[in-house]
Amino acid sequence: MPNLTSLRPLLYIIVFYLIAFWLSLSYWAFRDARERSPSVAFHVFATGISLLLPIFGLFIYMIIRPPLTMAERRALELETAALSEPGGPARELRPCPSCGEPIDSQYVLCPHCKTQFSKLCPRCNKQLKLGWSVCPYCAEEVPLQGSVPTPRIAR
Ligand SMILES: [Zn+2]
Ligand SMILES: [Zn+2]
Repeated sequence: MPNLTSLRPLLYIIVFYLIAFWLSLSYWAFRDARERSPSVAFHVFATGISLLLPIFGLFIYMIIRPPLTMAERRALELETAALSEPGGPARELRPCPSCGEPIDSQYVLCPHCKTQFSKLCPRCNKQLKLGWSVCPYCAEEVPLQGSVPTPRIAR
């Protein structure tokens, strides 16, 4: 039968580790709550529940916490704002005059049927009609490319 007193230091170490584990879990809950909510009451709740109910409190907290951190939510909002903004990534679509596929009105040619309907000014990069020999925005002379890839249209 081993002497119980010789086991005591080991017991202290285990208890110490359990307490350290318990405190760091509570601290983690506090930090996590701070990232997910600006409300102080919520921070207190998250820390309190993981202190009062070690481990189980943390599970409860993880079930009811907001699914996204505030930084994630902000990124999502910016993304949605950018998408709905005119001139943003979601540009105006129009059907291609040749094949009818919806294409961006800023395109100079249709990526589906490769019909070219405009060109870009080499100087100011504005969209020009194929027949124009000068840019109306910056007065740059634009060489007329006699035949363009696909001669569609009867004008
Ligand atoms: Zn097309
Ligand atoms: Zn120009």
